[in-house]
Amino acid sequence: MSKFKNIILLGPPACGKGTQGKRVAELLQLPVLGTGNLLRKAIDQKTDLGLEAEGYINKGLYVPDSLIESLVAEWSAQNTEGWIYDGFPRTQTQADFIDNTAEITQPDLVLAFDVPQADLENRVTSRRQCDTCDHVTSTFVYDKEECPEAGCDGKLYARNDDALDSFRVRYEQYEKMTGPLFDFYRNKGLLVEIDGSQKPEDVYKDVLKALEGDTVSA
Ligand code: AMP
Repeated sequence: MSKFKNIILLGPPACGKGTQGKRVAELLQLPVLGTGNLLRKAIDQKTDLGLEAEGYINKGLYVPDSLIESLVAEWSAQNTEGWIYDGFPRTQTQADFIDNTAEITQPDLVLAFDVPQADLENRVTSRRQCDTCDHVTSTFVYDKEECPEAGCDGKLYARNDDALDSFRVRYEQYEKMTGPLFDFYRNKGLLVEIDGSQKPEDVYKDVLKALEGDTVSA
């Protein structure tokens, strides 16, 4: 079993954070905070948070740090025995928020997924997500509307912000605002870089190696 209990997943949109995070969560029995999924649920439910976040998300823009931080604080208060963050932090301000919030257990591993932009563009345009359980698949491997997860009767949909023009805005935001976090966590000795352009099975093998602690310098 891995010694790591507080794991950040870092990387561009569609790099495989969600897919790998789900597997790690099952393996280590840790809860996952997927900020994007929580925001999409808030939009569906038309909560105040959802109404405020919707305009940013549809344009492919990051939502303001303060909005995300209150969401993370609320989630973290209920998940104190280890966690996986999928999609948080995405800015230096959010990373500093983790450092400066005593109630949040500090990260002990950051898995950073590298994937070339051209591969990401192929992935987002074929990506489909379940409207009920958030399962993610690709039209290349599964081409029906019904969710393939056992016991789920949800429908698959293409995310608005996965349209190519919206994706390109997201990618630009990622490079500018999230890219610097690679160095930030590298300097803390927490970063393990993984070639996310491989097949999901091979990516997972590298994730397992990182969880065994063979590659992390901390
Ligand atoms: P995701 O599902 O992780 O791709 O996130 C979808 C969208 O939600 C992003 O493009 C942002 O608009 C917003 N979002 C999710 N997490 C964050 C975050 N940590 N900071 C700012 N915006 C976020």
